[in-house]
Amino acid sequence: MLGIMEQLRSNELDHSSATRTWRSPCMRVKLQLVMCSDEGQEETVTDVITLDKDNRRIEHLGLTLAEAKQLLSTLQQHLLQQQVDTFLDPCSTCADCGALLKVKAHASRSFRTLFGTCTLHSPRLEHCDCTQRKTSSFRPLAALLTESVAPELLYMEAKWSSLVSYDMSMDALKDFLPLEATLDVKTVRYGPACAFEQKPTVWE
Ligand SMILES: [Zn+2]
Repeated sequence: MLGIMEQLRSNELDHSSATRTWRSPCMRVKLQLVMCSDEGQEETVTDVITLDKDNRRIEHLGLTLAEAKQLLSTLQQHLLQQQVDTFLDPCSTCADCGALLKVKAHASRSFRTLFGTCTLHSPRLEHCDCTQRKTSSFRPLAALLTESVAPELLYMEAKWSSLVSYDMSMDALKDFLPLEATLDVKTVRYGPACAFEQKPTVWE
């Protein structure tokens, strides 16, 4: 019977080249975000981050704080983008007659979260005239972004500020969280480029 080291050496010789790549000091880890429908069906797969990890020294093991912060901020960016698009999608047409609503003006909203700050495009849309309304236009995103800071970040800021000064608490939070990351969130339907190309509503 072969000793354990001999078995390992024997296995090493027998391994295919594909298996041997795992013995390389570098390892590539790709993380993907899979969005599913309510029924659980996979709809979109997005590459979130690729990590090239070394494994020869103790400090190479596991995630570093910088990698964890990058991972969280990138995930936050993709998640926010998907959520905002899903929220805005039904707002682009009249709820009563289904006509496409005209974009009256463009603006942006900043939203601070524990995992970064994003600037979201917030269009002002004209109401359809098929039904009488109190106002002539509205910003659909205002119904979702009732605050410019995520409630959880407000809570953490308040909690830490009650213990130490605001500046010290922010420094502490920034050590562990990607608070200062800028999230590049582009909404699909109302991106400035495509919004200007939007055809005017045909009024009935
Ligand atoms: Zn209408």
